[in-house]
Amino acid sequence: MMMAGLKTVPLADWGIFPADKPWLIAGPCSVESELQIAETARQLKASLGDRLGVLRAGVWKLRTHPGGFEGVGAESLPWLLRVRRETGLKICTEVICGDHVRACLDAGVDMIWIGARTTPNPYLVQDIADALQGADIPVLVKNPIGNDLELWSGALERLACRGVRKLGLVHRGVSSLTEKHFRNDPAWDLAARMHALYPELPILFDPSHIAGMTAYIPALCRQALDKGFDGLMIESHYRPAEALSDAAQQLTPADLSSLLESLK
Ligand code: PEP
Ligand code: MN
Repeated sequence: MMMAGLKTVPLADWGIFPADKPWLIAGPCSVESELQIAETARQLKASLGDRLGVLRAGVWKLRTHPGGFEGVGAESLPWLLRVRRETGLKICTEVICGDHVRACLDAGVDMIWIGARTTPNPYLVQDIADALQGADIPVLVKNPIGNDLELWSGALERLACRGVRKLGLVHRGVSSLTEKHFRNDPAWDLAARMHALYPELPILFDPSHIAGMTAYIPALCRQALDKGFDGLMIESHYRPAEALSDAAQQLTPADLSSLLESLK
């Protein structure tokens, strides 16, 4: 049975984002090396200043095919912490299981997210929720890779049942056999239905994984802000062409800054 009206803490009280909307999370798809994450964060800070409060970067990567770069793993958490010390940015990464949650809590990561291939797996979500019991870290939940409201809300319920109160949504589109341009179907209806079900939750928009290519990102962002999304989670890399994952959809920090200017 679906639980509406979760007991949550408003995003403005998380102590994570600057006061002004749209709230912004930016950073590379993956942490690749100490140099790559430090240089990307430094350029983001230089280009975006106080508009950016949170750096995203995947430490553990779920790749569709075997043989690709699967992330550096927990070894790269200290690199993120160093970047936080040097830039003042809060740090945010993806967790896939309870062990990842424990590693993030031990390291002192500021916020975590659950990805589109994990949200639809109730066993993994429960493992994550169990590991979060008693912790106060904010958790963003991406929509499941398929257009399924029940699995998305079920994931929230599992977290809420373990006492997670700082909850947010990230919409990243859904797989489609018919979508011609984008990597994922924007599935605006899914986000709208979820927002109607949980109006108290902040909902961010991830144009990067919908677009699949940087050229489509500006128009998607404009549409999302017009539709009332609270913020954006965007991939940015200091050398996108050399990225080890999602190279075609990552903006340089300078291009991200121009995009944000154009959205004003
Ligand atoms: C990511 O944010 O890099 C990622 C893997 O996203 P998603 O779970 O939306 O595919
Ligand atoms: Mn990615």
